[in-house]
Amino acid sequence: MVLLKKVDWVVQGDKMRLVFLGPPGAGKGTQAELLLKNFDYNHISTGEVLRQEIKNDTDLGEEVKDYVNRGDLVPDEIVTKIIKKWLKSLKNNNGIVLDGFPRNLNQAESLEKDFEIDHVLYFDLKEDEIIERLSNRLYCPNCEKFYNLKYNPPENDKICDKCGKKLIRRKDDTPEAIKKRLKVYNKNTHHLVEHYEKRNKLIHIDASKDIKEVFKQVVERINLEKNKI
Ligand code: ADP
Ligand code: AMP
Repeated sequence: MVLLKKVDWVVQGDKMRLVFLGPPGAGKGTQAELLLKNFDYNHISTGEVLRQEIKNDTDLGEEVKDYVNRGDLVPDEIVTKIIKKWLKSLKNNNGIVLDGFPRNLNQAESLEKDFEIDHVLYFDLKEDEIIERLSNRLYCPNCEKFYNLKYNPPENDKICDKCGKKLIRRKDDTPEAIKKRLKVYNKNTHHLVEHYEKRNKLIHIDASKDIKEVFKQVVERINLEKNKI
């Protein structure tokens, strides 16, 4: 896969604390992976943490698995605890990307109580394109790397480029669960766009472009903000 390689641009805002916000399938995880590959950011995806817990059959995994598989939000206390523990555990002063958190006003307010974020990158994508992307998404259950059969295919048929494991479809990428997640996003998460806009933290990203173009926007916008300081 040639797209997710290092780029020549330099990110200047490498100490920024960022939230990646947007509907499921908008490309948040893909862009977080690129940012991490190119620059030293600390990154957490709450969805990824939850999937690992489910995969490892832990008590937490057991508690959250039905919510995740059907596309519902996991209770706020659980995800907030995961994020706060992670923030406390950080050992460096590098930038931070929170991917998939906060997902509602309650989570945003509880984060704001003891942590200030600098910017929220809102990955904006229309519903028909979201469905197209999610219906073609595959992932590696071993290294959690995401692919797309149409837009970002693995080099070898349904095999992870990184570790050689067979790629699978996420349990919540079925048509019913996709529909549910979109509904949940529109009802609970989309309000956060306005919430962060009012706080002058929102950066709009046109997520409909190809992966490299979107990444270019991400880097340019982060640099622009950094230069304002
Ligand atoms: P999210 O983390 O927001 O749910 P992903 O990063 O998993 O979204 O992307 C959803 C799917 O769309 C994946 O299969 C990914 O490979 C693909 N994808 C991501 N960004 C783009 C893009 N800009 N153009 C086309 N496909 C993309
Ligand atoms: P994602 O990988 O971001 O698409 O998240 C996958 C699933 O994990 C979601 O559909 C939810 O069930 C759960 N999840 C992830 N992040 C959160 C969150 N901040 N709050 C509640 N549930 C979450």
